[in-house]
Amino acid sequence: MALIVQKFGGTSVADSEKILSAARKAIRAHQNGDQVVVVVSAMGKNTDHLIALAHEVNEHPSAREMDMLLATGEQVSVALMAMAIASLGYKAVSLTGAQIGIHTDSSHTKARIRSISTERVRKLLDEGNIVIAAGFQGIDENYDITTLGRGGSDTTAVALAAVLGAETCEIYTDVDGVYTTDPRVLPEARLTRQVSYDEMLELASLGASVMHNRSIEFGKKFNVPIHVRSSFSDRLGSLIVAEPEAPDQAVSGAALTKNEARISLLDVPDVPQACFQIFAPVAAEKITVDMIVQNPATDGLSNLSFTVPRDEYEQTLAIIRPRIEELGARLGDCSDSVSKVSVVGLGMAHQVGVAKRMFRCLANAGIDIQMITTSEIKISVLVDRSQALQALRSVHEEFSLDKRPETAITNPFEHLKANRQVSSPAEVISRLRGIDMEAITIHGVTLDDTQSRLTLPRLPNRAGVAAKVFESLAEQGVFVDMILQSWFNADSSDLSFTVPRSQYPLAREIAEKLADELGLLAIKGKELIAKLAVSGIGLRSHTGMAIGMFEALMQAQIPIEMLNTSEVRVNLIVDGSLGRAALNCLQQRFRSELS
Ligand code: ASP
Ligand code: MG
Repeated sequence: MALIVQKFGGTSVADSEKILSAARKAIRAHQNGDQVVVVVSAMGKNTDHLIALAHEVNEHPSAREMDMLLATGEQVSVALMAMAIASLGYKAVSLTGAQIGIHTDSSHTKARIRSISTERVRKLLDEGNIVIAAGFQGIDENYDITTLGRGGSDTTAVALAAVLGAETCEIYTDVDGVYTTDPRVLPEARLTRQVSYDEMLELASLGASVMHNRSIEFGKKFNVPIHVRSSFSDRLGSLIVAEPEAPDQAVSGAALTKNEARISLLDVPDVPQACFQIFAPVAAEKITVDMIVQNPATDGLSNLSFTVPRDEYEQTLAIIRPRIEELGARLGDCSDSVSKVSVVGLGMAHQVGVAKRMFRCLANAGIDIQMITTSEIKISVLVDRSQALQALRSVHEEFSLDKRPETAITNPFEHLKANRQVSSPAEVISRLRGIDMEAITIHGVTLDDTQSRLTLPRLPNRAGVAAKVFESLAEQGVFVDMILQSWFNADSSDLSFTVPRSQYPLAREIAEKLADELGLLAIKGKELIAKLAVSGIGLRSHTGMAIGMFEALMQAQIPIEMLNTSEVRVNLIVDGSLGRAALNCLQQRFRSELS
């Protein structure tokens, strides 16, 4: 007998009809002989209403009372769901997070799951019940009710599936599955049948997502197959597992993060404490800093651009202003009308020319790229918000995301059934004993000291420049790894990239020619650089993680020259002579998290 977890989001339990229809789905699975745990969100827009109500009585309600209030939304749904199932003739018991024993830390409104007790749920299941669990909530060590952050019921569902060793976690929602991009934004988006955890993690944090990204972290960490499907039909949706839909596909999804703000700092001294001083206070306010791009510009001074959600723009500026002054840096040209367009694909890790293709298609659409960051499986560009939709459409078309890849896995669901090994409850319990479930996991810290860096300062801000640079390099067979472009001012940007050291002279020659042609300042380069990579799970949702790296390197007196962050990896470039020291320092720092 298998166990499955089914999660129904707010729209799937919005009224009594829908609750009954969800109840029937649970009953059907139960009739198939499976044990069923149902996780539900608050009905419809109930959470929004509760939040609005709170603000009517208090402009700044405390986080603890917010949790007390919001948790009631899910409590309503679980009770109704249990009643609905009972009315259809089956046994069901509803449980709140506290009753299950979903233990979290005490960060109200953003709590993280530490552990989940399974005894009570198991006992109820073994007695033939369908167990209805309240999503989104838990309890801390003081017995205070906590919530996991908006959208957190997904995380409850996948976490429960993990601790119960479920065969799959079905996420019933108002869309049919995971699309290549948000179909409400781009109608030509295609429903994918399978997507990998890593791709989904990137997409989730880019806002194209149907799911809470912490739920995907759980899926990956505990190897829970997640099936995202429509609650309004019986059609199969998309499976989120370790492998992508088609192994040779460079790009499998695209995303638009519409409301971003760009902050540029100029003349940041090349001192070990720079990153830490700027970002630690921002992270302390739980603001997620994104697209951090640092470019070595003029001697000893660098330019640093980063993005934050538009809602947090003013607050971020207020936090960093005094820090910038302390450092002797300046605030550059900032904007809150920018959007980020990203492409994601596991396949791009071993294919060349993906970035170049993306830049060219944007150039052809007449779109200027303001900032660039690339990581192993993601390329993000920042564009003016007025061009964002066109940019998304262009990349979606360029990578043929509307067409099913020829090598796509034919029947992911059958494949999963045939290959899935489900652990026994005892195995699962022993695996999870003593584990802090949502703690960050670091897979490795590695050093690559075989690369060099080139920087083109003050590249004109106009469509086609980035495309030209990377096409010229590709024509001569130069293999580009990291690409970072930071915003300098309204007219120009700084662009840095890394190449294999053996190709440094050639790349430099090409860059010099380009600089001549484009009338740029003298190009800069460094032959001996070291790239440090920290890979793991939860790197970005744990905002303190990058900060921890900055701090460790600061203490070791190692300045960071370039950096980029993604969900699953943080890459840093330091001076070549400091590579070993940086490696030791980061390994020390993450000693206890290294899995
Ligand atoms: N009800 C909560 C929210 O609206 C949790 C969830 O729906 O996942 O954010
Ligand atoms: Mg939701």
